[in-house]
Amino acid sequence: MLDASTGHIRPIGTAAVVGLAFLIAFVTPNLVGPRIRRAARQGAQPGLRPRGQWVLSGLSTMIALAVPLLVFGGEERAISAAVLVALLGGVVGMANDLLGLPRLVQIVLAVAIAWVAVSLGIAMGEIKPPFTTRMIELGSWSVPASMAWLLAIAYAVVLCRRLPRLTAGLVAIISLTFAAAALIVGPSRSAPAAGVLGLTMVGVAAGALRADYPELGSSAHWAMGFALGAITMIGMLKNTAFLVLGVPLLALGVPVGETTYAIIYGAGKGRPRLALGQRRELLHEALIRTGLTPPRAVLLFYLATAYLCAVALALVLVVRVTFLAKLGILAVALSVGFAVFFMLARIWSQPREEAEERMDMLGVPLARIDMEGALARVDQFVAERSPHMVVTSDSPSIVRARNDQEYQEIVRGADMVTADGRGVVWMARVLGLPVTERVSGLDLMESICKRAGERMYSVYLLGARPGVAEEAARVLESRCPGLRVVGAQHGYFTPEEEQGVVRAVAEAAPDILFVAFGAPKQEKWIRQHLAELRVPVAIGVGGSFDVLAGRVRRAPRWMQRAGLEWLYRAVREPSRLPRLWVLPRLVWMTLREALRRR
Ligand code: UDP
Repeated sequence: MLDASTGHIRPIGTAAVVGLAFLIAFVTPNLVGPRIRRAARQGAQPGLRPRGQWVLSGLSTMIALAVPLLVFGGEERAISAAVLVALLGGVVGMANDLLGLPRLVQIVLAVAIAWVAVSLGIAMGEIKPPFTTRMIELGSWSVPASMAWLLAIAYAVVLCRRLPRLTAGLVAIISLTFAAAALIVGPSRSAPAAGVLGLTMVGVAAGALRADYPELGSSAHWAMGFALGAITMIGMLKNTAFLVLGVPLLALGVPVGETTYAIIYGAGKGRPRLALGQRRELLHEALIRTGLTPPRAVLLFYLATAYLCAVALALVLVVRVTFLAKLGILAVALSVGFAVFFMLARIWSQPREEAEERMDMLGVPLARIDMEGALARVDQFVAERSPHMVVTSDSPSIVRARNDQEYQEIVRGADMVTADGRGVVWMARVLGLPVTERVSGLDLMESICKRAGERMYSVYLLGARPGVAEEAARVLESRCPGLRVVGAQHGYFTPEEEQGVVRAVAEAAPDILFVAFGAPKQEKWIRQHLAELRVPVAIGVGGSFDVLAGRVRRAPRWMQRAGLEWLYRAVREPSRLPRLWVLPRLVWMTLREALRRR
């Protein structure tokens, strides 16, 4: 698979070998996996160490790594050396699984393996300082530097053990990055060997992930750790490794100080805050304590690592850029990555129950309710008979409330404000507000009409182009048995006709008035006329009549669920595209506010 004279990779042979290696690596843990799971289920007793599971997972990892590589790539020295080092790691790890080696013994054995690796030629003779093209000879420092590097990488992988099911996914992502970096632009002569090793490791890790071991033991961790360390050294991928292994090292190894902690977790009310001087904990422990489930925490680390891998590859690809430009790219990429990490951690954490009914979302008082709660409030408003105003607040409305004083006062004075859209729910969560469900204008209108049919409430439809309100009324009457629509009127009347429209509504005396003029026009209009209208409930519902009447198609369910309704509407109606500018603004406003609330 490698040309002996030039050291270059032979594409077809290598592809075949790597494919086969991947297959064996993938299948081996899968064959052992079910047995492990069964053993784990049977032997799952509290306090009992699942030794059998650890040993089996370690064995399967070592077989998956060694067999394809030694059978097909054994003639390449770098490859056989790396495999040997990984196997040594696996064996020591297995001894630890079985006997529980004391910490000192583990360290001595790890150092011994690193020494063997260096003697086998897995060493760095020179280093390239980050972001430069100049090489520095290490001379007599080569041995300790190489050993330290190998141990650091192996340790980073072993750290992943702290979160169940983290290792295999992380190693798969990282190995793929190493393989890509080595194969595409690897600077050293043995880069192709590193590429082949990396791809095989992807197979090993993907296999372990697929086999879904309840827990990988020391053996699998040590084997994978030393294998990865060897790959980085053979392929001269130290800068790449530095970036992509940052996640396990920082997140799982370094106790988080109060400051970082406070920035990430202190924002928002109702979250536990860490008082100065309290015990420090690791990032993943903190994530889980503040409401993230362990699988979500693992997913977050996968995403963070995948992102860093992409950044590392991008940096490898843009070799020709100056040092400063690279540093700039890195700084921007890391800031964006941190912001997204922070937001995802907040969005995914389980909201804590809070007593407050209304929560301040950038000046908009969001109600802490789901659809059922919103319907109950509407019932209450109808029973009270006095005029009430309901606002469904989407992302543009939240931004608008920041800039438009009049609009903000109207929204603040509303009797109920719901989160209309996934974006609002997400950003509320980033602020630490326990909003769980979106209640959009259209969904609320449909649910209210169903309830109105059951409870004999009457409704009035005001807004949209001529003919649309009537058509929407017909659709609603057919969908909601018992619904009484006491009036429908388009929304393109002149200022002279306005009083007549208000009077018509008041005389029809509906229980609920739906106003579809689009925001902020509908909210301003409702506020201005609420007293004269004398309706118990007035709600602005934007373009809902158009959708009900079939003039505008609603996004498919999966897009609604994924929070992509805005994208669908923007694509169908390109005139709405400029409105999307509010989304980055909302994210920015939310991040600033989250930090400010600290
Ligand atoms: N509309 C209206 N009178 C006006 C302006 C607009 O009745 O003077 C209607 C328009 O026909 C459309 C709705 O208001 O049915 C606005 O829908 P859009 O989707 O733009 O509102 P959004 O849901 O974005 O607030």
